[in-house]
Amino acid sequence: MKKVKNDSLKKIIIVGGGISGLSSGIYGQKHGFITEIYEKNPVAGGLCTSWTRKGFTVDGCIHWLTGTREGTEINYMWKDVGAFTQEDIIEPDNFGTIICEGTPITLWCDLNKLEQELIEISPEDKRLIKKTIKLILAFQNLHLPIDIPLSEMSLWKLMKVGLSLLPYLNVYFYASKKSNYKYSLKFKSPAIRYLLNHIVPGDGNLYTTLYAFGTVSVGNGGVPKGGSKTIINNMVREYEHVGGKIHYAKEVEEIVIKDGVAKGVKLKDGTIVEADYVIAACDSFETISHLLKDKYVIKGFEKRRRLQKIYPTQSCALVTFSVDEKKYRELGITSTYEFPVEPFEAGTSFVQSLRTRAYNYDPYFIVDGKTILNTLIFQSDKDYEYWDELNKTKPVYNYEKEKLALEVQKRIIEKFPSLKDSLEIIDIVTPKTFNRYTNAYHGAYMPFAFTSTGSMFYYDGKIKGVKNVVVSGQWALMPGGLPIALMTGKWAIQRILSKEHKWFAFTKPIKYNYTK
Ligand SMILES: Cc1cc2nc3c(=O)[nH]c(=O)nc-3n(C[C@H](O)[C@H](O)[C@H](O)COP(=O)(O)OP(=O)(O)OC[C@H]3O[C@@H](n4cnc5c(N)ncnc54)[C@H](O)[C@@H]3O)c2cc1C
Repeated sequence: MKKVKNDSLKKIIIVGGGISGLSSGIYGQKHGFITEIYEKNPVAGGLCTSWTRKGFTVDGCIHWLTGTREGTEINYMWKDVGAFTQEDIIEPDNFGTIICEGTPITLWCDLNKLEQELIEISPEDKRLIKKTIKLILAFQNLHLPIDIPLSEMSLWKLMKVGLSLLPYLNVYFYASKKSNYKYSLKFKSPAIRYLLNHIVPGDGNLYTTLYAFGTVSVGNGGVPKGGSKTIINNMVREYEHVGGKIHYAKEVEEIVIKDGVAKGVKLKDGTIVEADYVIAACDSFETISHLLKDKYVIKGFEKRRRLQKIYPTQSCALVTFSVDEKKYRELGITSTYEFPVEPFEAGTSFVQSLRTRAYNYDPYFIVDGKTILNTLIFQSDKDYEYWDELNKTKPVYNYEKEKLALEVQKRIIEKFPSLKDSLEIIDIVTPKTFNRYTNAYHGAYMPFAFTSTGSMFYYDGKIKGVKNVVVSGQWALMPGGLPIALMTGKWAIQRILSKEHKWFAFTKPIKYNYTK
């Protein structure tokens, strides 16, 4: 670090103790700032959370964590913030099994095995299967520039990044402008067509699907033992270790602005806390609508919010069960398993298949011979409005939640009768729950979907008309998720350092290249 303009330490207030806020806090402390996090809940984590029900830990987040592979750029960042050690990581050998028009297809991480499986199912699609595997490989090797935000890069660095991405531009444009549906129509096999439309829940484009699977298939999308709790506990410990302070159950009501410059925050209890900078690491719509009282706009967000069809938000309902671990293991199926069911309603959506995930790969989620079985049901903006309206009449809301859980339970038992006596509902979450708990816009667990008709959103964290506020978090870069929250938290500190004419201390990632 050099060129210190002002010797007195500057203070940063961080709104929100999710992954992004904790990331900013840790990087901020390590770079000589005084930071304090204000979190509305009595615990940290935000959407990356878990909770206890009937003696079990329900994990409300991590299905795959990009950056678990040693040597990757994101792995360095996770370790910078103390999120996990390599020994903590469980690497799956598959991304789950999907029953596709009657044919079970397992998404093996070993791409040779996957290719062989798909060719056996549909020899007439051999050429296209090989092409798809090649696309996945291309995305495995795509190194996105994450060490520094684009807006802070020198022209020389930008050119270097541009050149390094050149070989991928073709596949990127091809896959980002193609919907999974359109791509799937190229295949003769109805099973493979179905598969392509179901790999990743939601309305993302082919790029989102292949990039997500590419990450997992290269061993870069594992899960930490103990799930979401592990990384949150570790990051909180790291933050406190480097001198940071979290104020729990302290909701921020407003960012205090004087003459176009942020001066601190006002808490819900009326307390004013002064600071030199404010990092808004909470949901970005909460920042605009609540903390800044709709006085400013972030054009990119506003445009996307208006064009809901092109930029749908992504939320879900979660129904969690406990189940006899031995009986579940005897089914001999992969941890994630999707199968068609008699259609039922969840919010305003019709659900035609169920995706279950058993957590018995990690002893942490096994209690007295029982383990957790979770079902994630994708929900849209319209579904959020449905639950939001119902929530105004609590008994009706609770009744509908129970009804949803019973519909799910019935279908799991129909599929796996041996689980009948041990499958117990232990928790139900709707998009409204996410909204109530974290102020998430439309209960979104990920930001706007990157659809084939939409465009990528890369936000520089600034709000026109206000100085010294930096916005971070999952909304700042599509497709969102934990790595984006982590990165944008770090970038917020880099942006402040740049304003302060100070340098960022980099850790050095290793270059890597995969072959099938
Ligand atoms: C069911 C589910 C499954 C998921 N699975 C994955 C996965 O497998 N892999 C993956 O990468 N991602 C996954 N995600 C997404 C991931 O959890 C989020 O992208 C990420 O946690 C977002 O972090 P964040 O810090 O940007 O925001 P948040 O987690 O929303 O953190 C913001 C924090 O700000 C607090 N806050 C809000 N308003 C205020 C206020 N006014 N004052 C004070 N505090 C406030 C909130 O309480 C919260 O703690 C999943 C999410 C869900 C819900």
